Amino acid sequence: MGREIVWFRRDARLEDNPAWIAGSKADEVVPLFVIDPRLFNVVSDRRRIFLLGGLRRLDEALAEKGGRLRVEIGDPKEVLPLLGPHRIHINREVTPFGMARDREIATFADLQTHEGTYVQPPGTVLTKSGSTYKVFTPFYRAWSELPVPQTESPANTAITADSGLGLPEGDHPTAGESSARARLERFAELVDVYDSLRDMPDLDGTSHLSIDLKYGWLSAAAVVRRLGNGSAGRDAFIRQLAWRDFYGHLLASNPDTVSESFRPEYRAIGWSNDDVGFDAWRLGQTGYPIVDAGMRQLHSEGWIHNRVRMIVASFLVKDLLVDWRRGERWFRRQLLDADTAQNVGNWQWVAGTGTDAAPYFRVLNPVIQSRKFDPYGKYIKKWVPELSRLPAREIHAPWEISSDKLAAFGVNLGVTYPPPIVEHSEARLRAIAAYEVARSYVLATFEDSKSERVTATS
Ligand code: FAD
Repeated sequence: MGREIVWFRRDARLEDNPAWIAGSKADEVVPLFVIDPRLFNVVSDRRRIFLLGGLRRLDEALAEKGGRLRVEIGDPKEVLPLLGPHRIHINREVTPFGMARDREIATFADLQTHEGTYVQPPGTVLTKSGSTYKVFTPFYRAWSELPVPQTESPANTAITADSGLGLPEGDHPTAGESSARARLERFAELVDVYDSLRDMPDLDGTSHLSIDLKYGWLSAAAVVRRLGNGSAGRDAFIRQLAWRDFYGHLLASNPDTVSESFRPEYRAIGWSNDDVGFDAWRLGQTGYPIVDAGMRQLHSEGWIHNRVRMIVASFLVKDLLVDWRRGERWFRRQLLDADTAQNVGNWQWVAGTGTDAAPYFRVLNPVIQSRKFDPYGKYIKKWVPELSRLPAREIHAPWEISSDKLAAFGVNLGVTYPPPIVEHSEARLRAIAAYEVARSYVLATFEDSKSERVTATS
């Protein structure tokens, strides 16, 4: 079978990697990573370091087998032909950019596409009429009935030892496949109580595997095989992973939703695009402690707890009426686990513009959410230290306390911590009105065009 290429993209692992398993059946294999400046130059330094760390670990794992990771820089459609007319194995991507790139490469190369990113490949969990599910619950039911794909061991092939241009500087100690497997094992001890802890940002009860899945240091199928079902915690965890597949399916079949509301009735919302509000949100200075805590965690760690992601996203879109696409772009740049399908799907869900989304009139109240999910204010105290002396009862809404009392806890609103940037109940009504205007505009346009069609045919 001669020499074949395995082109790694977001799957820097040797275990349970269908592209690698297929490539390893050749007489000789070239493990390749192409640094595409169009992608590499636009991500944050933190993301670059994690990516490079994962690739370095992959290179080391290949070196143990006598080979090296070959690294090239440039547009893959120019780089790949320079490597010779070899068969190229990839795991499929579902972003519009990735799909267009791979389609173009398939016009001149023998591109063998495998499925290594999702548990059930996009396009395989379909309704009886063969379309993509728009609602999660029936998707999940159908998804759960399918067998989890099994894996096989890669063959013992000769691996080329040419490192090409080599990896640029950059590394992170927690990056890569073996650290990811250790994280999976640690979480295996917690998963049975996941259902009771997962919504509480102050209790570190989630897996933190999103970064491992984003870079592909672990396969989603391997996570399901390891953690399986059998307890309420395990079931709840696997259900969350199914959301990941759901959004993968949705993006693959609706690529336009990267930049357009899934629901046409919300394409005409009159966003405020308030730059002052957006900056306060971005910097964790909105005056809403739970929102500020989340945005500061994002800034500091490149990660936020899921419940808090929902609260901060809802605050931006509903309370500040800023276009969800601005928030999505900011998250995409900052999050270590930034993943187009998940980020777009979740932003549209929160904004109410997506499929199976929260109804437009459901606006999360940041204070109620804060009291419910961070009852002792521990999460807020960690990320907003200027409020750390406030008692748990008062920390969620400091503006409700007299200035004398605040002063006793070292807080001076407007000096040590901002007053709330908007009044939530007013902001809520403004958001609902904006969504209603957009809906009625689209409905009226639809009615007009319907009556025009009737007139034209009568
Ligand atoms: P766990 O609770 O341990 O969940 C296990 C795995 O299930 C996660 O690693 C993830 O792969 C998957 N999962 C959990 N919740 C969701 C969800 N709501 N949607 C899809 N998959 C889910 N997740 C990303 O991976 N990348 C993103 O860019 C991203 N952007 C988001 C933006 C917003 C506005 C919101 C509300 C959520 C976003 N999420 C994103 C989903 C979710 O917040 C993260 O996957 C989760 O917080 C990661 O932490 P964890 O691994 O500890 O999750």
